[in-house]
Amino acid sequence: MRAIGVDIGGTKLAIGSVGHSGQLRDFELTPLPTKHYDRLIAHITARIAELTDGSANRPAVGIAMAAWLSPDRGDVVSAVSLGWERRQLRQDLARSTGLHTVLHNDANAAAWGEYVLAGAPSEGAFVMLTLGTDVGGGVICDGRLITGASGLAGELGHLQVDSTGPACVCGRRGCLAVYASGKAILAGAVERGRAAGLDTSAWTGPDVAARANAGDTAVLTVIDDAARAIALACGQLACVIDPHTVVLGGGASAIGDVLLDAVRKAVARIEPIGPVHPRPHISLARAGNRAGVLGAAELAVQPQPGL
Ligand SMILES: [Zn+2]
Repeated sequence: MRAIGVDIGGTKLAIGSVGHSGQLRDFELTPLPTKHYDRLIAHITARIAELTDGSANRPAVGIAMAAWLSPDRGDVVSAVSLGWERRQLRQDLARSTGLHTVLHNDANAAAWGEYVLAGAPSEGAFVMLTLGTDVGGGVICDGRLITGASGLAGELGHLQVDSTGPACVCGRRGCLAVYASGKAILAGAVERGRAAGLDTSAWTGPDVAARANAGDTAVLTVIDDAARAIALACGQLACVIDPHTVVLGGGASAIGDVLLDAVRKAVARIEPIGPVHPRPHISLARAGNRAGVLGAAELAVQPQPGL
């Protein structure tokens, strides 16, 4: 066993290990047993002890979580969904497990997981967008995860695609997340369905995916709007890092090929930048809800985990 990955979500906890083959093993996804900080640390420590019982070596531990982290990725500055503020998570878990521990934003970790599955290309820029409740992201350049001077790198959901657009939770307007998060796509589909006289009160993400795949034109319009926003964001990314690959993950990626085709068509319409037409390869994520655990585990054994 080389490493253990732990993905702490707002309602779920995922854990697994990575051996020398690179395969994710012992994957387990359960409801989050508690939001109480000390009790959750004790629970994770016990699970790690179970996984390492009988193991000859001492694996590293990678933690992924949806939170604002300190720039050195040692502390959780704020995890709204758990009600945590200023917690020294990396230090506390390293102390309780006695194992080398790293901490990363969950979307960054998921991006690293998808990057590993894509063969970890050592050159160029690889980007992942997680289309979940919000839009997260991760940027890997020349084999290194970019985390930024203040830990903000990869917050691609807040690339502004329309300065006059709807208000975003971040305080700005017209961010990518306002159009392309799973939450935004569901809200847009519900609004259009209601306008068409449908009972939308019980619609969920899977309903929207099913409607899109059945050719519901109202839902497809919402997906086209999301795809256009993603393409505009890709155009901006091209000016900064010119990615060769953009992977779409998160809950909304379950819409599947309908979303993929819409984004590919929208990306093909990106305005040229000078004489250059940026054309990143767009693909769907492969690891699903395992990406965060895989990426966190793999980041834990990186000699230099990020910049
Ligand atoms: Zn925003």
